[in-house]
Amino acid sequence: MSHIVCPHCQGVNRVPDQRLGEAPKCGKCRKALFNAKPISLDDAGFERFASRGDLPLLVDFWAPWCGPCRMMAPAFEQAARQLEPRVQLIKINTEEHQAVAARFGIRSIPTLVLLRGGSEIARVSGAMDASNLVSWTVKHL
Ligand code: ZN
Repeated sequence: MSHIVCPHCQGVNRVPDQRLGEAPKCGKCRKALFNAKPISLDDAGFERFASRGDLPLLVDFWAPWCGPCRMMAPAFEQAARQLEPRVQLIKINTEEHQAVAARFGIRSIPTLVLLRGGSEIARVSGAMDASNLVSWTVKHL
């Protein structure tokens, strides 16, 4: 059984692990828990996913003015299609939501941080293509 935070209403769902791949829906808002795309969060939303969710989180710290970040965005979306439902992919706009970036000491962007149980297990800076994103993530899980 895993606790899955809904990307739409941030309700916490309990889903049997063997049903994660069967397109589970949120018990609160009835929308799909996995949408094959990254979830954009603010500081409070991030805290909720990190503290209440059981799935590993792959967090993309980015900013609108950062060229390499914008270049990597399609690759990050592609990686979401491949990594869900094993991992939830999160985007933090560091210009708008600075608390999380400060907590993780983000100095350059894009930086990717992989979390499990709210704790960092790996990080890498610099843009990557989709296949490298997926293999880097799977290697550290
Ligand atoms: Zn929901």
